[in-house]
Amino acid sequence: MADRLKELERADDSITLRYVDGDELTIPYHELRAWCPCAKCRPRWKDPHRRLGLAEEVKRLRIEMPKAEAVGRYAVRFTWTSGCSSGLWSFEHITDIALNRLDVDH
Ligand SMILES: [Zn+2]
Repeated sequence: MADRLKELERADDSITLRYVDGDELTIPYHELRAWCPCAKCRPRWKDPHRRLGLAEEVKRLRIEMPKAEAVGRYAVRFTWTSGCSSGLWSFEHITDIALNRLDVDH
């Protein structure tokens, strides 16, 4: 599905993913941020025991619209003013978040 992502559109509090076949998925920024793929956050949400703490922490942050910069045709680099600017968000990862695929342990 990720390879069919056509565009990302940022609103004030969420991001919308549009796919070539017309599918549309919306992710609130605080949820997106809770699954940050950077080296600092990834180990936290990979661990089911620490994931909740990270989610709670992110919820307390002011909702912010991240800067988004395309990286090739497969990823986006989001820059958050409250830290975390080094993570590379592959379209696949963003799609996984939108479909709640990361909530199950693997
Ligand atoms: Zn991070």
